[in-house]
Amino acid sequence: MPDDAIRCDACPVLCYIKPGRTGACDRYGNHDGQLVRLDPHVVLDRAVSRGDSIVPFLDRDRDWDGNIVSGPENFVTAIGAGTTYPDYKPAPFIISSAVQGVDMVTVVTEGIFSYCGVKLKIDTDRHLGPETNLVRAQGEPIGHVTTSEYGSQMLSLGGVRHLTGGSRREGTVTCETLLNLCNGKAVELGIDEGATVLVQAGKPPVVDGVQEERMRVGCGSATIGMFAKQWFGKVDEVVVVDDHITGVLSEHQAGKLLGIPETGIKIKGHRSTPGRYFRVAEPGTAWGGTNIEAPLSILQDFNPKIAWPRLRLLMVSTTGEHHAYFELDEDLQPVEKDLPSSLSESVTRIKENCEPALCTVLFMGGAGGSLRAGVTENPVRLTHAVRDALTRVTCGGTPVYVWPGGGITFMVDVSRMPENGFGYVPTPALVAPIEFTLKLSDYAALGGYMDHVRSLDSMMSDERRRHLSARENNPWPLSSPTRPRPER
Ligand code: SF4
Repeated sequence: MPDDAIRCDACPVLCYIKPGRTGACDRYGNHDGQLVRLDPHVVLDRAVSRGDSIVPFLDRDRDWDGNIVSGPENFVTAIGAGTTYPDYKPAPFIISSAVQGVDMVTVVTEGIFSYCGVKLKIDTDRHLGPETNLVRAQGEPIGHVTTSEYGSQMLSLGGVRHLTGGSRREGTVTCETLLNLCNGKAVELGIDEGATVLVQAGKPPVVDGVQEERMRVGCGSATIGMFAKQWFGKVDEVVVVDDHITGVLSEHQAGKLLGIPETGIKIKGHRSTPGRYFRVAEPGTAWGGTNIEAPLSILQDFNPKIAWPRLRLLMVSTTGEHHAYFELDEDLQPVEKDLPSSLSESVTRIKENCEPALCTVLFMGGAGGSLRAGVTENPVRLTHAVRDALTRVTCGGTPVYVWPGGGITFMVDVSRMPENGFGYVPTPALVAPIEFTLKLSDYAALGGYMDHVRSLDSMMSDERRRHLSARENNPWPLSSPTRPRPER
């Protein structure tokens, strides 16, 4: 170790850092012999004057007049707060504040998460790849395709096996990809036997170079149910092509109730219930999330005993992106024609009813391990306090969903968090902000580090802290301190 280097002890890497240099993660540096956290420490501010957040008048602080006050206007997040290591040391900041006359404490730390990942929801019907197939970044396996949801494809990325259970490069690429996604950056992912997709939180996905615009309005059957009345009298048959359920108007219950007669249409695929067909084609990136480029390929010949010349047929996908209009000739063969104006309105209506396609990134981490020891000397009590709703968990001041059951396994929508709230360490693991807020009396009862509690006011005097406006769509993390204690 050079004489003038200092050792960073904020993670197990224990870097020696020379003056003017940074450690391996770029989070800490040697500034004139002092170990400093290089990113600004973020404080959320809900005062109107600081930014564009609007706070109702009655929620604002008032001078003490003997009545209950609403609480402080600042919340110290864990973004830029630093980490203590090993875990038995108290968290970097344990801050007290009075909220509606109740003494509260917020324990603030940047957690190092080896057990973490991203759940990625991609709003598209296009087939991205078979379920369970590997998802790759820079050629390295970083996750897999998981069960799709209504109108969306789902990827599960990261996790301890990719971070630390494979090659060094696999771990590094996994960590880098998670970090970029969580910090709102665009990432290109390739799926084995599937598509290449560009994803970014809050932005439309780009599948094989084509930007997705709309989520489907529903499956083919649901689309028939929604729009049957609008087609009634304007067309004799409608087929809504969809990879999940392809709908056929004349056979569907919606068509039956309207009295639409049989047309003699025959669909390839597996008939589920009347007017609803599974597996009309293979999954793909064309019509309705199938591999169909030519819609007539899913039709067999019309039944000559039922069909008639000049029968009008509309075929449309579940987003309205693909559509085609046909009329039967004298031999009962479909002939493509221009879409009549009376039907173009219904196709436009399908498009109108589709929501914009977006990518949603949920960070998921497990704080049920050693991180708890920085909060209390008796870690399991913190788990119980979270489960009993006595302790609120936030991530950069953003509400999280805590999974029931053991541990403190939580998920947070990264697009609701302050920007660039995540970091990494080269072990490799992700660094995520986490705050625990609870009553001061409860904190004492669960074995908290009471001699490390400092006041919120003492934090505010440091000008190096960066004040950000609290987001309007997030609940204020210091509100309603007196939550009911559920039965155990
Ligand atoms: S990797 Fe970062 S946090 Fe870990 S010891 Fe080095 S500088 Fe400190």
